[in-house]
Amino acid sequence: MHLYVHIPFCRQACHYCDFHFSTNTKNKRAIVEAIAREIVIRRNYLPSKELETIYFGGGTPSLLDEEELSFLMDTIHTHFQVNTDAEITLEANPDDLSREKLIQFYKAGINRLSIGIQSFHEPHLKHLNRIHDSYEARNCVKLAQEVGITNISIDLIYAIPAPDHTILQSDIQKAFELDVAHISAYCLTIEPQTAFGSWLKKKKIKPIDEEFAAQQFEILMDGLALNGYEQYEISNFARNGKYSRHNSSYWKQHHYLGVGPSAHSYNGMSREYNVSNNTQYLAAIEQDKIPSTIEILSPADQVNEYLLTGLRTKWGCEISTLNTLSDNQFELQNRAEISMMAQKGWLFIDNGTILLTQAGKLFADRVASDLFLD
Ligand code: SF4
Repeated sequence: MHLYVHIPFCRQACHYCDFHFSTNTKNKRAIVEAIAREIVIRRNYLPSKELETIYFGGGTPSLLDEEELSFLMDTIHTHFQVNTDAEITLEANPDDLSREKLIQFYKAGINRLSIGIQSFHEPHLKHLNRIHDSYEARNCVKLAQEVGITNISIDLIYAIPAPDHTILQSDIQKAFELDVAHISAYCLTIEPQTAFGSWLKKKKIKPIDEEFAAQQFEILMDGLALNGYEQYEISNFARNGKYSRHNSSYWKQHHYLGVGPSAHSYNGMSREYNVSNNTQYLAAIEQDKIPSTIEILSPADQVNEYLLTGLRTKWGCEISTLNTLSDNQFELQNRAEISMMAQKGWLFIDNGTILLTQAGKLFADRVASDLFLD
């Protein structure tokens, strides 16, 4: 099984981000204690106690101090069996990653870092309201490699408004120079509950230019492929098979427990969503209650989720699984649609599995939703 731990704090709010976090860190210690308590309360959520992956996400888990991280890791080790080859990832921001902090992470058992670099271009970092600069972005990767954390992923954002593609090309080049195992590249989106969302409403900024974004996505796919990165999921690229095992488990519909404010859990039958509010989370856990809502998944929900996540990956969606989940309705209802999309050159079937073509990757969500069951 897999464990996700949400650390809901950030130093400052990035202008594009709608994840759950607070910039007020005065409750950090109390939240860490509550998360540890939740781990204990929910240790039997899944039948297995064996952890293949642990993922500290956020927010900004690199804000955890040595004591807080050790406390969480000790709690996890006490209540679960962590496999000796478990992937243990921590999301980090470059400004937190001093040599001393990286040594603490390494000693605590973190063996993979996912670093939010986003861009190496100073004006773009300012535009996004990132707290770090380009030097910190490059230096932290080198420091991590020096202390022994070599399984490193970096995040990049594309489609940031620019006169042409030279900034993105330079960002890609700088990423290659860091020699990281994994790159996640996300298209800038403007979400309503963010600074960008509010500025868009007031017409202070323009919407994302979709044609520019599609061009940038193609530049990324081509450039990363040329440099040995395999696109194993639409936004994720790895060298030498260094896939994110944790995120791959989501895309393959494996079961996981998520703890912390706003974390999700999945047990095959239902999804459970923790409240996205630190105060309410604390109050509930103090009474040994899990502040979550549960959604029971219908067969159609399970088919649609598998399509939405599976089609984005190199593993695609097995037709036999889709048929089993839907009492054979999937193929019955979608035969004509599948053949039409194959003719358009968006997908193909290989050995009973639906896979997207390179062109289809530009329309992944649309292909999935056109195959949804009601
Ligand atoms: S992008 Fe990361 S660092 Fe920025 S506000 Fe969101 S969670 Fe925090």
